[in-house]
Amino acid sequence: MTARLLDGTDLARRVREEVARDVARLPEPPGLATVLIGDDPASAVYVRSKRKRCVEAGIRDLHRHLPAHVTQGEAAAVVDELAADPAVSGILLQLPLPPHLDPAALINRIPAEKDVDGLTEASAGRLALGRPGLRPCTPQGVLALLDDAGVALQGAHAVVVGRSDLVGRPVAQLLLQRDATVTVCHSRTRDLEAVCRTADVLVVAAGVPRLIGPDAVAPGATVIDVGIHRTGSGLCGDVDADRVGHVAGALTPVPGGVGPMTIAMLLRNTVAAAAAAPLAAVGGAR
Ligand code: NAD
Repeated sequence: MTARLLDGTDLARRVREEVARDVARLPEPPGLATVLIGDDPASAVYVRSKRKRCVEAGIRDLHRHLPAHVTQGEAAAVVDELAADPAVSGILLQLPLPPHLDPAALINRIPAEKDVDGLTEASAGRLALGRPGLRPCTPQGVLALLDDAGVALQGAHAVVVGRSDLVGRPVAQLLLQRDATVTVCHSRTRDLEAVCRTADVLVVAAGVPRLIGPDAVAPGATVIDVGIHRTGSGLCGDVDADRVGHVAGALTPVPGGVGPMTIAMLLRNTVAAAAAAPLAAVGGAR
């Protein structure tokens, strides 16, 4: 392995410490309402870590757990109640929802100023137009890792593999806002390897274990691996790290790269939402 490893565990810890200092300076502690519907075990684990980190940073834990059989109307009423509650700075609806519920309809009830997951149509629209707003957490974590590593984005060719609402699309928008030249690849892209090889910065969020091998990476490129998969031999990402590590200039490990950044950015968004002018705090150039 010759690539420099970009340590997300360390950066996430620094961001959380910074958030705790920002929280201490606010007149009132911010409140984060995580909403978990049902008993999906993976979701329960994610929500538990979000709540734990939020309490550690001095943010009030205003968690709501609703039964799996809750109706769309009942769930909507809870979101509306949180939206109207001044103690709630941010609302996070944990996905996936039980199949009888419509996730988009519930997410879009969250007011943009409390949308700490950045997933409402209003937040996505603001991002697409380059207007200030709260941004999705994992994509923000990707940008924070690139910035912390001192990777120049202006004029660089950034290739994003994946176009999901959660990761690929918002990452591409954030890179564009930072004046990178952005190419977005997806499952129908022809000759993925050749396109990826043209990247100075390659962000992979395809959800396919070890999709990206050394032939898809230009020597010295920076590679950010968003994927995370549990295999018989442990965790791995969307990048074949053992082999890509000999070609890339810098690489995020899995685990310990993008993963820890997501919650750190959620905390940062919650503080930004609580501050009087949240939108100015996280704005960007057009
Ligand atoms: P998704 O399944 O919603 O989207 C995957 C995208 O990749 C799609 O746009 C699809 O077109 C594209 N794709 C799939 N196969 C491809 C192929 N062979 N070639 C090119 N493109 C292909 O997934 P997602 O929610 O964006 O998540 C992607 C990965 O990131 C998953 O492994 C997920 O577990 C992980 N993830 C990690 C974090 C974190 O905090 N670290 C957060 C979110 C997602």
